[in-house]
Amino acid sequence: MGYLALARKYRPQSFDEIVYQDYIVKTLKNAIELNRISHAYLFTGPRGIGKTSTARIFAKALNCLSPEGVNPCNKCENCVEVTNGTSLDVYEIDGASNRGIDEIRQLRESVKFLPTKSKYKIYIIDEVHMLTEAAFNALLKTLEEPPSYVIFIFATTDAHRIPATILSRCQRFNFSKIPDLKLIEHIRSILERENIEYEEDAVNLIVRNSDGCVRDCLSLIDQVIAYTGGKVFLDDTKYLLGLSEDKIINELFEKIILKDNDSIKQLLSEIDLKGLDYKYVVEKFLSFTKTLLILKQFNDKNDVSLTNDERVFFDRLLDYVDDGYLFAVHQVLLKMYNDLRFYSFDKDIFEIGVFKLLNLEKILPISAFSSDNKMSENKDSKIKKIEPQPVTNLSDKDKLWKDFIDKLGEKRPNIASNLGYGYLIAIENDKLVIGFSEEKVFHYNIIMKNGNLDYVKKAAERFFDGVKDVVIKLENGSKKKGVIEKVTEIETFKDKMLKNELKENSAVKLIENEFDATIKEIKLDK
Ligand SMILES: [Zn+2]
Repeated sequence: MGYLALARKYRPQSFDEIVYQDYIVKTLKNAIELNRISHAYLFTGPRGIGKTSTARIFAKALNCLSPEGVNPCNKCENCVEVTNGTSLDVYEIDGASNRGIDEIRQLRESVKFLPTKSKYKIYIIDEVHMLTEAAFNALLKTLEEPPSYVIFIFATTDAHRIPATILSRCQRFNFSKIPDLKLIEHIRSILERENIEYEEDAVNLIVRNSDGCVRDCLSLIDQVIAYTGGKVFLDDTKYLLGLSEDKIINELFEKIILKDNDSIKQLLSEIDLKGLDYKYVVEKFLSFTKTLLILKQFNDKNDVSLTNDERVFFDRLLDYVDDGYLFAVHQVLLKMYNDLRFYSFDKDIFEIGVFKLLNLEKILPISAFSSDNKMSENKDSKIKKIEPQPVTNLSDKDKLWKDFIDKLGEKRPNIASNLGYGYLIAIENDKLVIGFSEEKVFHYNIIMKNGNLDYVKKAAERFFDGVKDVVIKLENGSKKKGVIEKVTEIETFKDKMLKNELKENSAVKLIENEFDATIKEIKLDK
């Protein structure tokens, strides 16, 4: 017998083989035991985590001729036919390729006939969210008055695309992604049962690349086994996964800009594990930064030759960056690149560089604070030290927004101070579009109160030419700062500069020497 792919061989055949979805399994088992079967079930959750397998097991268990407890026997005629996809009572329909009204009408016709040799007639519709609106409407009619022997099991990755009228008639089960540790355990037990030699790190790496998806995980292992002829070792795994290097690099760059620390930590260890060339990564980052600068500068997306995927990637990032930030990023990257050329401790240079990118505001150059630039220049270094410039200016858009907030503050300081935690997204036609990042929901809620929102609208109509309406969005995942925060940051920075200048001021130094004094604190009187 030839090699049967693990992904197929270990497709669960009974409830007890389903990985991790304990609550769902228990509820379905109870339903069978107590004979309380609904007419429609909805299985939702990410791809490849067992929705269809569970649907099949459930269908088998319901129609099995000699069930073992609540589990299907997998041996009787009915079970075997479901496994082979030849059952006349259990239909598996792919919603993506049968999405039209005609297919659903056909289904409604077939629903009228009794099952041929089983207790239930079961329709498993995968990717059900792909159905057209008309198809959903037709389906709804059957769901409203289903024959007693009919059961629907819908599976979907996008529950929000299913009409509420359908949702309300389904018993819903949300399948979860499988945590890495659980998946590692599962994979190891399979490899041990199969007597396949493996290295733990290889399994860990594969699991981390599978995003909680059993199916992806097993097919990756199948690939490695096919490549090595039967072993799962780290080097081969790295080699095979290396094909997706660029994906990791893109992701890391994006996460740095979004300051998503948790993902960054994981990606750094991924890059280390894969043994990526750090210089290559920095080169890619430099070119991304340049592209973003060009896009910002010329605001002409046709000016840079980009593929569609790249365009989407950069479009997503453009909202989070301004020129000042990009210049600073570029300089840190250049320094990383030079250091990587001259020193051998690649990993440290790269990782510390990434931390710098995440903390640009904390590593402002000493020279920026000092009136005497020569003192801070390291003459021994052959490499010119290039340090990032701080972001010290408001963009024109920010300025316009701040002017509006200031104006508003003259009469309604409370509204203005809350609105200042938002940012101006755009003025589109006659609409002023304002955003709040998720964590500013408190301020957002205050603004959304009726009286306040009306006031903002009226003020905006007076202040901005041609604006007739105001749209305020709470942006999920956004980390953009409100103009109030930006202004505070810039002022803090300016104060710091001023204080440092004062410390270095020759007159102040003279006083220090003359009186043998030290400066303890500088207070700025504004
Ligand atoms: Zn059976």
